[in-house]
Amino acid sequence: MRIAVLSDIHSNLVALDAVLEDVGVVDAVWHLGDVVGYGPDPDGVVERLVEIDAIGVRGNHDAAALGGPEIEWFNPEARRAAEWTAAVIRPATTEWLRALPERRAIGDMTLVHGSPRDPLREYVTTLEVARAAFDGMATEHGLHGHTHVPLAYVLEPTRIGIKDARDGSTLDLADHRAFLNPGSVGQPRDGDPRASYLVLDLDVAGAAGTATWQRVEYDIDRVADAIRAAGLPARLADRLSVGL
Ligand code: ZN
Repeated sequence: MRIAVLSDIHSNLVALDAVLEDVGVVDAVWHLGDVVGYGPDPDGVVERLVEIDAIGVRGNHDAAALGGPEIEWFNPEARRAAEWTAAVIRPATTEWLRALPERRAIGDMTLVHGSPRDPLREYVTTLEVARAAFDGMATEHGLHGHTHVPLAYVLEPTRIGIKDARDGSTLDLADHRAFLNPGSVGQPRDGDPRASYLVLDLDVAGAAGTATWQRVEYDIDRVADAIRAAGLPARLADRLSVGL
């Protein structure tokens, strides 16, 4: 079973479509939240995810667009974008976002946006928090986003290891429990502006399978122009071309 795992799409339909074209035929598309926020096309992204039957979880920007208290922790640019998103989205988009759970378990995988113990807020950026994430999951493996940086934590016998998650890297899921971040489709922050995503190849017969990170170029100028044309903060357009 081949699954595309997408996170932090952030209303960037051009990047999402580039990823979907790049990944080709898959059995399922899972998303890890922050479907909206920052970018210019929230309705278009949700429409596309509905079209392809994507399933996933809610992120803090999705919650903020629904009027949640998450907006209080945002910096001024994120806040402006969240208010813009809340004002422009169609009722069908609101309804779809509202139906997203904060966490979900599918087979061997837990899906969250931030961390299992605090799905809408916590960033998994330290080994301590990664250890708590393994403790907080009933499943063998987990998937998370929120940091916009592709990364793999693996639970080794005496420590937490960090594995390579650069373009083309593959991790064998049979070796260890793993907590994986696909990186961000719509606003990467690891210095590489290309859209980032993960492909899971899961053996339905029981063997764990593999996870492979992928990057794909998309028309950044087109999205940056749309961000400026929408009256969103210019820095949200500028950062796309540097991947930060
Ligand atoms: Zn995000």
